[in-house]
Amino acid sequence: MAVGANTPNNERSFERVGVFGGTFDPIHIGHLVVAEEARVSCALDRVIFIPAKKPPHKPGEPYASAGDRLEMVRLAIADNPYFCVSGMELERAGPSYTVDTLRAIREECLVRSLFFIMGADSLVHLKTWRDPHGIMQLARLIAVTRPDWDVDLAALDRELPGLAANTELLTTVRLEISSTDLRERVSEGRPIRYQVPDQVEAYIREHGLYIRTSQRSSAQAG
Ligand code: ATP
Ligand code: MG
Repeated sequence: MAVGANTPNNERSFERVGVFGGTFDPIHIGHLVVAEEARVSCALDRVIFIPAKKPPHKPGEPYASAGDRLEMVRLAIADNPYFCVSGMELERAGPSYTVDTLRAIREECLVRSLFFIMGADSLVHLKTWRDPHGIMQLARLIAVTRPDWDVDLAALDRELPGLAANTELLTTVRLEISSTDLRERVSEGRPIRYQVPDQVEAYIREHGLYIRTSQRSSAQAG
């Protein structure tokens, strides 16, 4: 597995690994804060960012290409030695199912404890994902607070038994930043500075990403 350019010495053996999946279209400060909070709170040796090819739960294709999203993640995490990126979901045929990704990591790396990091909105929807029990058998969940998404673990556990015991709920600064809002901002000429790392903003500008997002959204809606 290409654990990523950020991984020193091509290590394949870790004690505690966090996997952070997402569309990262584009990656933003909210993602980085979540990953760092999870890393420190759960004493993770590595956090692997894994951009999804096409998330099954989102309509349409991602706005930026797989290559652009991977590169933006690379730029965003370059200065954090604990973070790395993997293109494994982008290289795999078909949609990205987290359960397959976690299984592949378990098969290909020696990981003692595997964690899957997610925002509160993702935890609330976990029951709709493919094989949530399989996910929980493969990894402990780390769910991090997100504005507008209050988590009632007991209620979620009734729908998905075992979830509460398998989840670390972390509180971090609530950053009301989303990729959806950032795409709209770029397409409308509003600022994104300080919401994404400078290198990511520069990449978006250089490659003309998200300029037509609102036209495409309205075309799709019609
Ligand atoms: P979009 O608006 O396109 O859905 P997003 O900002 O939600 O983008 P994703 O790539 O969908 O970003 O999210 C990847 C993961 O990061 C998800 O588990 C999501 O819950 C989490 N996440 C994203 N933004 C935040 C944030 N601001 N605070 C907490 N968690 C977040
Ligand atoms: Mg999202």
